[in-house]
This record gives sequence, structure tokens and C-alpha cells, in this order.
Amino acid sequence: MTAPARVFLDHCEAGATGTVIPVDIAAAKALAAATPVAGTETIDLLAANGRVLATGGIAALALPPFNSSAMDGYAVRLDELAGSGPWRLPVTGRIAAGDTPAETLGGAVRILTGASVPPGFDAVVMQEKCRLEGNVVVIDERPRAGRNIRTAGEDLRQGERLFEAGAVLTAQQLALLAGQGLADIEVRRKIRIGLISTGSELKEPGQPLLAGQIFNSNRVMLRASLDACRWAEVVDFGIVPDTRQAISAALAEASSRCDAVITTGGVSAGEEDHVSWAVGSGGGTLDVLKVAMRPGKPVKVGRIGAALFLGLPGNPNATLVTFRVIALPALRRLAGMVETAPKWVEAVAGFSHEKRADRTEFVPVRLSAGGSDGLPRLIMLGRGSSASLRAISQAEGIAVLSPGLDRVEHGTRLSFEPS
Ligand code: AMP
Ligand code: MG
Repeated sequence: MTAPARVFLDHCEAGATGTVIPVDIAAAKALAAATPVAGTETIDLLAANGRVLATGGIAALALPPFNSSAMDGYAVRLDELAGSGPWRLPVTGRIAAGDTPAETLGGAVRILTGASVPPGFDAVVMQEKCRLEGNVVVIDERPRAGRNIRTAGEDLRQGERLFEAGAVLTAQQLALLAGQGLADIEVRRKIRIGLISTGSELKEPGQPLLAGQIFNSNRVMLRASLDACRWAEVVDFGIVPDTRQAISAALAEASSRCDAVITTGGVSAGEEDHVSWAVGSGGGTLDVLKVAMRPGKPVKVGRIGAALFLGLPGNPNATLVTFRVIALPALRRLAGMVETAPKWVEAVAGFSHEKRADRTEFVPVRLSAGGSDGLPRLIMLGRGSSASLRAISQAEGIAVLSPGLDRVEHGTRLSFEPS
């Protein structure tokens, strides 16, 4: 793992000398700056949706735990179906789901779905395939051994590996854990993420807007994005104006209270961009990254005290892309997740677009029918402006246009991350 090595106290120096790095390297640097939080807590299964599993585990209980009937019908012993049919067997008992299996000597046993198949019985004939004459069941066709029986352990054997530590629990995984009889589960503690919107021009929605001001879009976008991450909680420090003092104070407080601090805005090398200075003056370490990507060229990654620091650019589309591609993987790692990368899906372009071959471009896209090879077809939205709220609001995903390509044509293979 490479620790961020340089402290840039002067953003002008960073802008002038920083080499441009590929987006994968930038994402790897952010990832390397994140050390998984150690704390865990044991919580009720009902509260564990979306949480990060702290330890892997093995199955203590085979599933199903006993041989059970997959059908309503009659359990039989094949040795009673010798010769040629039809066979007539007396009904000697009845077992429903939940009944304790009783010793049964022979004949046919009326059995219902989910009930335990009595020992020695090797098939269940579904009720539609036999007929009852008084207390005798008539079977025309000999079932094969094991027919309509779910064998103990056929789904999961005792001692088999369940999930690995670092998995994010889904509804279906929780169902499996419940099937194991677990009432609670050990998960990583939630990471706490401090959010700071820098910019003297920003107002919160609902406040009056003066000339030259704009509303804060990034705050709600990042809050909403992080809402979906059940492994994180947000401490929102609101808007901080572009002064060294205000940004330093906000960073000091956020880094002392949070596991990670995300800022938006103030990361280019402009006169009002004080984030690097504030991180450096607060004793933080910082990599100022000039990333060969559009949108989102300036990104800062480092640590302030014990907190991971992620400084994202302020244009909403740039904020969104750098959050998804660079910040979120690092936050996932911080939270203890093993799979951290975005899940790219293959698709084909339904648009043409000129791009520079020396950088990765990310464009908002919507899906349309008619892609070749059964792949989704993507329509680019907007003209690639990093400030376009309209384009990102209409998007169903973000497509990545790889470096090396200087043109995307209709039919070019691409990948995208669904919204
Ligand atoms: P900066 O990275 O601070 O230079 O900001 C780049 C552009 O993004 C400027 O036009 C800012 O006004 C705009 N911007 C910065 N922060 C936000 C925000 N939270 N919401 C909407 N636009 C923003
Ligand atoms: Mg700014």
C-alpha cells in the first residue's frame, strides 16, 4: 500500500508541478489511503440489511436440516413397489410440516409439503399421480428413488463456508443466516463521514439567492447517495465559505469527529481554493491529484489526523463522477468491504462523440432498446459539461470512455455503471 507522501502547502505549486495520472491510479491512491475501521458490533438480523459482515462463517446447520417432502402426496418405500403396478398401499399415517417424525412401519404415509419424510421411505408420489380408494392409495407408476424429497444438506452441508468477511449483507443473505437460526450477527461499525460544501457562492435551497450566488446541489446529491450506504452515517457540516480560517476550522472539527471527510469545491489551483492549504496547516498529508479524466481533473486524497480525506471538485457532474469512481471505493474499503470497485456493465454506444485520447471521459447516459449482441445501448446526455445538472438528472448511468479512444462511434463497446 502506498501512503500519500507529499504535503502541498501551496496549491499553486501543486497545480504547476503535479503530473497527470490515470484515473485508475487516482482511485488506487484513494483506496490505499483508507484503512478499514476495526470496530464491530453485534446487531439484530432485522437491522443488518446493507451492513458489512465482520467475520466469515461456516454453516452450523445443514439445509434443509432433515429430508423433507417437496410436494403434497404419499411417502412410499420402493421395496413395497416390487413387480409391476398398479400398487395398492394402505395409508398408515399423516405427517404435515412441523410434525415431529414418527416411526412408521410401512404402507403409504400421507405427507404434506415441508414435512419430514419418515426414515426408510425413499420417495414421495405427488397426490396428482395417485388416487385414494378408501384408506388405500393406488399408484400406477413407480417413482424413482428420492423423487420429491429434498435431502438433508442438499442446499447447504454442515461445515460449508457461508459468506466471507467484508460482504455487504443483502436481503437474501439475511434469509440464509436466518435459516441457520442466527438471531444476530457481527458487523463492522458504521463509518462516519463528514461532509463539507465549500464555496462562498453557495446557498441552501430555501434561502434567498442573491446575485452571483447558486444553490448547493452537491450536498443533497452526496447525502442521497450515501443514504443508500447502510454501512455509513453522515455528519453534515453544511456550507463553508472560501476562507482559509473557515475551511481549516471545519476540517479540524470534521476530522476529529469522523472516519472520513469529504469536501466539495475549492480543489483546483484557483485563488479561492483553500482546501489544500487548510489540510496542510492542520497537519494533514495530501496527494493533490491531477487526474486524466473528464469531468473531475482536480482531486485531493490524503489523511487529516486519523481521518481519510477526500477533496472532490465542485461542479456537480465532476463531484458525482469523482465520488463514484474515486471516493466511494475508498469509503467502501474504510467500512471493511472487500469488493470496492464500481460494477461496470458492458454496453454499446448509441451515439458518436469526439474525445481526447489521453484521458478517460465519463458521460451521463440513458438506456435505449436495440443494442447489438444483446447488450444495452447507451445514449449520451448533454454535451459532456461538468456543470450540467440537467444531464445528470436524466441519466440512468455513467458510461466510461476509455483512454486510447479518440472517438466513440455508434456500436463502440463501452461499459457503464447504472445509477
Ligand atoms: P470549485 O471546485 O470550487 O472551483 O467549483 C467549481 C464550480 O462548481 C463553480 O462554478 C462552483 O460554483 C460550482 N460548485 C461548487 N460547489 C457547488 C455545490 N455544492 N453545488 C453546486 N455547484 C457548486
Ligand atoms: Mg469554489
